[in-house]
Amino acid sequence: MNRDLAVATSGKRVAIIGGGVAGSTVALYLAKQGLSVSLFEKNNNLVSGPPICHLHAGGNLYRELSQQQCLDLLVQSIDFVKFFPATVNKRPTVIAVPKNDDGTPESLLPRLELLRESYLQLVTANPANQVLGSPEDYFHEFSFAQLKALASLEAPKKPSTIDEWLIPFAKHADLNKLKYPVYVVQEYGLSLFRVAASVELFSDNLENLDIQTGRCIQCVSQLGDGYRLQFENGHEAHFDFVINACGFRTGIIDDQLKLSRKRLVEFKAAYVTQWQSHKNEKWPEIIFHGKRGTPQGMAQLTPYPGGYFQLHGMTKNITLFNEGLVKSTSESAQPQLPQNLINKVDKGWSLEVQTQRACNAIQHLSQYIPCFETAEPAGTPLYGAQQIPGNDPSLRAADVSFEGERYARLEIVKASSALLAGKKIAEKWFGIHPDKGNNVDAVIEDVNVIEARAKLIALSRGYPEELAVAY
Ligand SMILES: Cc1cc2nc3c(=O)[nH]c(=O)nc-3n(C[C@H](O)[C@H](O)[C@H](O)COP(=O)(O)OP(=O)(O)OC[C@H]3O[C@@H](n4cnc5c(N)ncnc54)[C@H](O)[C@@H]3O)c2cc1C
Repeated sequence: MNRDLAVATSGKRVAIIGGGVAGSTVALYLAKQGLSVSLFEKNNNLVSGPPICHLHAGGNLYRELSQQQCLDLLVQSIDFVKFFPATVNKRPTVIAVPKNDDGTPESLLPRLELLRESYLQLVTANPANQVLGSPEDYFHEFSFAQLKALASLEAPKKPSTIDEWLIPFAKHADLNKLKYPVYVVQEYGLSLFRVAASVELFSDNLENLDIQTGRCIQCVSQLGDGYRLQFENGHEAHFDFVINACGFRTGIIDDQLKLSRKRLVEFKAAYVTQWQSHKNEKWPEIIFHGKRGTPQGMAQLTPYPGGYFQLHGMTKNITLFNEGLVKSTSESAQPQLPQNLINKVDKGWSLEVQTQRACNAIQHLSQYIPCFETAEPAGTPLYGAQQIPGNDPSLRAADVSFEGERYARLEIVKASSALLAGKKIAEKWFGIHPDKGNNVDAVIEDVNVIEARAKLIALSRGYPEELAVAY
């Protein structure tokens, strides 16, 4: 470590409460800068919060997102992939606008062009930023005639060109239900299980990072210049700096510290299905746009190996829930979800409800890919509650907020924003400039070791190990 850094970080004790993707990423980053970091997680595992399946490098899954948020997510995603290189699933995403939707494909074009240009600039400035393929291939458009031609071809086992990736979609989607062009963009998947494995494996190498799982922080209070943390067993510990990384429960500690904060909390779910008859095909991700919260809400198919597909459907009987979006009040910074949703987070789901919703999802998707109706529910849904700072439910690019000199909240909406939050904290509290700190490159690069650990993590949480395998 260089001398300035050593002075900036010496003797400073940082507590991070919450070991989800945000708390864990920031803990690794700060520990890599030489800080003494203690990470407290009430669950027995790190990175076990709500799902993380998409990188969102460009925010193309959300057509309502501002251009600035899309550009921010692009930059943050590239940084995140460089930090956690073994975590992406490299397959393109098809973006289709159905005829029954009010939107037009052309309205997506200006943003795609802006993102491609921005990606090109990032790669020109630093070739290491080329983690999403070649900039000229960032997106492509396909006409009805082009897709019809692809539909007559045999899908290869290992697609290597964009055309080849599109063959299963062209063959099996009902092309007459879509508006044209259809876009294909380099929006990759992101594996929560391989992020969790990367964190577990790399944290073993950092002596100044103390990870305590199964440790719930009951209360936080100010003590002199720092903070006192109280544990379930009545013990307490003192820290110079506190980072609140409690995810959708961030408001509980804000309330203890009498800090008001506007935020939303949303509970959502996606469903794991298996499509045996198509298990040897490699599919791209597919988005069929639709108006959120209506019966025609967006339908989304996320592919994994072994014929597993994860489904989202932005309707009230699939991904969204009654009273699933709640807000803070002037009395409390902690939005209150209804008890039935809290029970789902803390205790899990009944088999009946998860099967019913997974079947709804299969039906919803089959409107556009008719043969998908033979897919079947395949176990535990991917679900959870997440916070969104402020009062705009469509916000997707958010990172960290500060109160006073030594308290910060991680308020990410997408996993890829976590590293930026860590960099902002290091700079604000310790004067560590992002480009002048210690090497922040890859936490670990051995893909096979990470994948093996990730499979065990998936199985231990009740998911098929295929969900952890690189696609
Ligand atoms: C259905 C769904 C799909 C999603 N898909 C994606 C996606 O594809 N890509 C993406 O980037 N994002 C996605 N998200 C959002 C993403 O999951 C969240 O933004 C992310 O998990 C937030 O991370 P976090 O670390 O802030 O919170 P969490 O992951 O919730 O972590 C907070 C942690 O704090 C711990 N904790 C809370 N209170 C205490 C306490 N008092 N003491 C100790 N520990 C405590 C909790 O146990 C938890 O582990 C999705 C969310 C949902 C609901």
